Amino acid sequence: MLLKNKVALITGAASGIGKEIAMEYARQGASIVIADLALDAAKATADEIISKGGKALAVSMNVVDEAAVDKGIADAVATFGGIDILISNAGIQIISSIVDSTLENWRKMLAIHLDGAFLTTRASMRAMIKSGKGGSIIYMGSVHSHEASPLKAPYVTAKHGLIGLAKVVAKEGAAHGIRSNVICPGFVRTPLVERQIPEQAKEFGISEEDVIKKIMLKDTVDGEFTTTGDVAQTAVFLASFPSNALTGQSIVVSHGWFMQ
Ligand code: NAD
Repeated sequence: MLLKNKVALITGAASGIGKEIAMEYARQGASIVIADLALDAAKATADEIISKGGKALAVSMNVVDEAAVDKGIADAVATFGGIDILISNAGIQIISSIVDSTLENWRKMLAIHLDGAFLTTRASMRAMIKSGKGGSIIYMGSVHSHEASPLKAPYVTAKHGLIGLAKVVAKEGAAHGIRSNVICPGFVRTPLVERQIPEQAKEFGISEEDVIKKIMLKDTVDGEFTTTGDVAQTAVFLASFPSNALTGQSIVVSHGWFMQ
């Protein structure tokens, strides 16, 4: 058990990658706070963890809502006595060319990914500094934190931005024992990706099979999707790393789609 007695708050943990990290962290002994817009699904994930003997709490949190974020972190501290790990993971995707994009969609994307990361980071850092125990802050970036694709301007911009935030957190957090890193997955078959397969097929005028083969997996070394389990294992590795030696970094988990 690599995360015994740790408390982890994971945003967007009612589905996909965040949910898998929640389940794996619970198996590794951590107490889990599932923070999501979708409260019923968050509660179902918490119940699943509890039914397997773990500790979990579901909180309703829109990551762009300052008061909701501060309350969610306060609830985590009140319930489990502190917070050791933040996984800033909640996210959405919007498929559109720049010329067809609205300012509203641009702002929505940047708010969920960047305002959400800032607000959860600030509240977690305050709690970690107050406890004197430090902690680990992990952002869910993407290969799109390093690479670009057409039709994803606000997403690519936001994901690049997370790398900058992680580097500043690494510098400001070091004195308090707070480390910060970014996980950058390739395509993972979650609801977020299942939705965009038909959307990309329509925009590019190609079949859904070609979206997978010729766009999503084209540059991987083996034509394989990354799995939620691959990302969860990386999240365990980063959170359990014992020193400040590994901070301010991004780790790409993408079947070689992008090599640093
Ligand atoms: P998902 O759609 O399966 O899950 C996203 C979760 O975030 C949902 O439970 C949703 O309710 C929640 N959420 C959305 N907006 C929220 C908000 N404002 N406040 C709180 N919760 C909110 O998606 P996923 O694929 O698991 O994506 C998780 C993260 O991984 C995202 O940041 C995404 O950009 C990133 N990512 C995904 C892939 C992929 O291929 N699936 C690849 C790289 C990075």
